[in-house]
Amino acid sequence: MEKYKKILRKNKLKITPKRVSIINYFLQNNKYFTPHQIWEFMKKKFKKIGLSTIYRNLEKFEKIGILTKVEGEENRFYYGICKKTNKKHHHHIICISCHKIRDFDLCNFEQLKKQIEKITEFNIKEHHIFLKGICLNCEREA
Ligand SMILES: [Zn+2]
Ligand SMILES: [Zn+2]
Ligand SMILES: [Zn+2]
Repeated sequence: MEKYKKILRKNKLKITPKRVSIINYFLQNNKYFTPHQIWEFMKKKFKKIGLSTIYRNLEKFEKIGILTKVEGEENRFYYGICKKTNKKHHHHIICISCHKIRDFDLCNFEQLKKQIEKITEFNIKEHHIFLKGICLNCEREA
């Protein structure tokens, strides 16, 4: 939690009980959630909280690297906690069965990049690799 508080401070976002609760919820579950699911959880803790507050905070958290946006089933958007908060280049993989999320910093895109640039005549500036799979736990249970 401390490193996330540091990021909030660095980005001039106040450390409020609500923000801490949201981040904690992600940390404890290590899964990706829709804004709606976060809202359901937060409503139990804070009586008066609107969905728009949730949206706003999730967007902010994504911008400063605390959360990552995940495209899940039916093009719905989810958010998951980002453990590699040092801004180092990395990617995410999610389990489509239990919604677990994890980071990894292996990246082998350079070779492919040159080939794609050749074919498309584009100068590639950034890339996002996002993997979906089945984690070991879910594989075992199946
Ligand atoms: Zn990450
Ligand atoms: Zn799983
Ligand atoms: Zn990469």
